[in-house]
Amino acid sequence: MIEREGILFVVSAPSGAGKTSLCKAITDSLDRLTHSISYTTRKPRPGEIDGRDYFFISEDRFRDMIDAGDFAEHAHVHSNLYGTSKRVLNDMIREGTDIILDIDTQGARQIKEHYQTAVFVFIMPPSMAILEERLRNRKSDRDEEIRKRLQRAADEIREYSLYDYIIVNRDFERALSELRSIVVAERCRTTMLKHDWIDTLLK
Ligand code: 5GP
Repeated sequence: MIEREGILFVVSAPSGAGKTSLCKAITDSLDRLTHSISYTTRKPRPGEIDGRDYFFISEDRFRDMIDAGDFAEHAHVHSNLYGTSKRVLNDMIREGTDIILDIDTQGARQIKEHYQTAVFVFIMPPSMAILEERLRNRKSDRDEEIRKRLQRAADEIREYSLYDYIIVNRDFERALSELRSIVVAERCRTTMLKHDWIDTLLK
């Protein structure tokens, strides 16, 4: 058995770029890869389940968690707070489970500071027109909300150089295959492996 720590994959994208579906599909298709469930003060959308999609909590509770140092990163996104549990992340890394963090660019910056071996992937929409069309097709957001999300999308895309990999989500299956290739390649990276077992091979 090749033992190693879990790898942290940070995946960011403007909303509507297809990141949530890609993250779900990749965790369904690979072993030992799990999706970190964030805490948020946003209200659940229809179909979303507490504890599966997010932990939906009050702003007071969120602020208490910030004060207690419970978050590995947290950010203000679209007028709501979002954060990743530090304990869950560190436990998974220690156990050797790889983790996908579906977080925004502010959160990605914070993770980059504290987790030097994390891998950063940005999902790009093919064009702003396609992004707008996808947001409108979701029908869950009002015009004003869509306008805000498009503005934010442009701001997020400007941060692309923070990321190790860029995937253009023109075709879902192709984007998924690219994401899977990144995860598989990173798992074979020499610096991620514990080397003791190689020494035993040579004895
Ligand atoms: P949504 O409300 O559409 O689910 O997510 C809005 C944005 O918040 C997305 O860009 C998503 O990646 C980001 N987000 C979700 N969870 C977290 C988190 O724990 N931390 C940060 N920084 N961003 C998050």
